[in-house]
Amino acid sequence: MAIAERAVPHCLSFDIEEHFQVSGFASEARRLNWDREESRVERNTDRILSVLDKRRFKATFFVLGWVAERNPGMVRRLVAEGHEVASHGYEHELITMQTPDVFREDVRKAKRILEDLTGAAVCGYRAPSFSITAKTQWALPILVEEGYLYDSSVFPVVHDRYGMPGANPQAHRLETVSGKLWELPPSTLKVGGVRVPVAGGGYFRLFPYPVLRWMLQRIEAEGQPLVVYLHPWELDPTQPRMQGPLLSRFRHYLNLAKTEGRLTALVSDFVFGPLGAAVQALEYRLETIGARASSI
Ligand SMILES: [Zn+2]
Repeated sequence: MAIAERAVPHCLSFDIEEHFQVSGFASEARRLNWDREESRVERNTDRILSVLDKRRFKATFFVLGWVAERNPGMVRRLVAEGHEVASHGYEHELITMQTPDVFREDVRKAKRILEDLTGAAVCGYRAPSFSITAKTQWALPILVEEGYLYDSSVFPVVHDRYGMPGANPQAHRLETVSGKLWELPPSTLKVGGVRVPVAGGGYFRLFPYPVLRWMLQRIEAEGQPLVVYLHPWELDPTQPRMQGPLLSRFRHYLNLAKTEGRLTALVSDFVFGPLGAAVQALEYRLETIGARASSI
């Protein structure tokens, strides 16, 4: 089938990090302890792979450089099984806490580590906690300069830690000062005038699955590719409990025991592929159909 005839696939993605690296519990003291914590990322990623394997779906794995260095076999296995390996940066520092130079070094280091391990070009990037916001849009041209072709970090919602309310919620190609960059925001749906995140993470665990499926079907009916994300620690209900703010504990530990079943249902109800494949289809459509497709 020619690519022009192929629909833009829905996108399934996983941010590959340890449970103790999430932003909601981040502190300098905890970061200094990372190497002494129990690693659970490989086992949890295996759970994801076994769910995907039932449908033979391929997905994008945004792997943290720090995790890739310590789990090279896992990264090679992702590639060997046909998945796309992309970058989640190296240190999981919010971009809102970085200078442009520190950000550049972080995304460059992660890309180099992942490419050395996989032998393939790393084209995609997702920021820790979607931290490309109105204040950190300077990060987008740096991604172009560092060789990234697409980003999936701009979350067009209101949130205390991230989000860019009013940003284009659809997959689109940006013209940055350094060149073109595809932006694939996580899926959101406008409900009663409010843009609701439905794409994954805590939201995926918060809504009852039939409600989530209905919202995803609404987005699908609008002709938009879905962009869904989860983390390996979300499939791990027995992970050690961390101390931290009540809101962080609620978001992190809510319904963990339900995630694997919901992911299984999700991949039964929708057809997914990696983000890189969607970018290729979007690029082709834009080049062949022209400006009419610019907001697809
Ligand atoms: Zn992350």
